[in-house]
Amino acid sequence: MVEKKKKIVILGGGYGGVECTRKLEEYFKNEDDVEIVLISEDNFLLFTPMLPQVAAGMLATRHIVMPIRTIVKKTTFYEGRVKNIDPYGKIVNLWGTDEKRGVSIHYDFLVVSLGSETNFFGMSDLEKHAYTMKTLNDAMTVRNRVIDMLEQAENEPNPILRESLLTLVIVGGGFAGIETAGELMDLLLDASKYYPKINKNDINVVVLEALPNILPGFDEKLAKFAHRLLNKHGIEIKLKTAVTSFDGFEIKMKKIVEKSENQDSETEAIQTRTVIWTAGVTPVNTIKRSMFKTERGKIIVNDFLEVSDFPGVFAIGDCALFLDPKTEKPFAPTAQLAEAQAKTAAYNLHSLIRNEKMKKFEYESRGQMAIIGKRNGVASIFGMNISGIWAWFLWRNVYLSKIPRWDKRLRVFLDWTIDLFFDRDISRLKFEDKRPTKEYKVLDEVDDVW
Ligand SMILES: Cc1cc2nc3c(=O)[nH]c(=O)nc-3n(C[C@H](O)[C@H](O)[C@H](O)COP(=O)(O)OP(=O)(O)OC[C@H]3O[C@@H](n4cnc5c(N)ncnc54)[C@H](O)[C@@H]3O)c2cc1C
Repeated sequence: MVEKKKKIVILGGGYGGVECTRKLEEYFKNEDDVEIVLISEDNFLLFTPMLPQVAAGMLATRHIVMPIRTIVKKTTFYEGRVKNIDPYGKIVNLWGTDEKRGVSIHYDFLVVSLGSETNFFGMSDLEKHAYTMKTLNDAMTVRNRVIDMLEQAENEPNPILRESLLTLVIVGGGFAGIETAGELMDLLLDASKYYPKINKNDINVVVLEALPNILPGFDEKLAKFAHRLLNKHGIEIKLKTAVTSFDGFEIKMKKIVEKSENQDSETEAIQTRTVIWTAGVTPVNTIKRSMFKTERGKIIVNDFLEVSDFPGVFAIGDCALFLDPKTEKPFAPTAQLAEAQAKTAAYNLHSLIRNEKMKKFEYESRGQMAIIGKRNGVASIFGMNISGIWAWFLWRNVYLSKIPRWDKRLRVFLDWTIDLFFDRDISRLKFEDKRPTKEYKVLDEVDDVW
């Protein structure tokens, strides 16, 4: 009798999911008793560190996405949105749409790497009015918004309204916030030369951060260096500042004061039409609604990245909760961590299927890097701190080498080179909606089990 193939299903085509798939393909290269299936909502891997450069119009949109089908070789790929996971029946259900049927996929082993979404911490007014920087759609929308603000401000006679149009507020002083602020300032300054009535001094970019420093996780000296550089570039940074509301016209905030400071927290407001929220992420709803044990929305995993109560199910990346044994706190959610966990999960799956010993997940960050506007950056790598143009250069080299396809690497390199010699394109491409309309719905028809 022919033995049934074992099916490994990976959920999520981001850093964790794609790296895990690639590693599994390597492990089972010459073996036909295992089938690998990858399911993701989009049919591409999004290169998030370059998202702010798309928002700033430096990189073309398609150049930072890699079609999954061109990366994986012997994996079956499904483009679809996961509706729910049944870990008892070992089934994953996908939503149907008008165009495609909802399906149910059976698995023997599962890797959950569904990532995260923007966390507004329950502030519905911010969720309604603020822009985000998490998806390709977000980056394109922000670019159009910024250019639109320049267009509106150029012919606006009311000085108060004009100032609010030319004020951009970014909430969150982490990677995404700082890089977005630096890149957007560059875009605004470069583009302003085509708007004769707008002076460079009319442009205000403000970063609001609740912590006492920007770039948490970086060496304090480097973070302070980045702070000074951003200030020099004309970006104002307000630390220990918590946002309380935004109605689309005015953002309100309050100073965070220590109990020992014995004073009331001051409130402040900034008139602005554009707030970009990068202040936190939370796992996607599919995880929160799942039967897995979660803490702060993340799936709790053991030392082997296996989900407790469900042997053979692994969770990795932004949606998994793994504590750093040194600090007893969760590691910061990064692409580097997701990829490291993906490698261990693939190794452990191979071991599990071959009845070999699994290994514990051990992680030592190789360092962190951020670019802060034109030809400047900060990097902390292998215990060394680097800043300025060398950090910027290093960032570009490291991230370019991480793009998995040569044609995309070349396209990004050409975009960067063109940007050195030519002005940015200021055409505003019209989008009707801030977010795409929801296409998912439950279909009446009986789903297939595949
Ligand atoms: C602007 C920005 C800049 C960043 N810069 C850096 C950086 O410089 N360095 C760094 O290390 N990290 C950076 N990060 C963080 C990094 O992108 C994440 O930590 C990393 O992507 C996590 O990988 P993941 O596989 O867990 O999730 P993701 O990469 O987010 O992948 C999750 C995948 O699951 C899919 N998905 C989600 N829900 C469903 C569903 N219901 N059904 C089907 N598919 C679904 C998504 O479409 C996505 O493809 C940045 C993030 C942002 C937003």
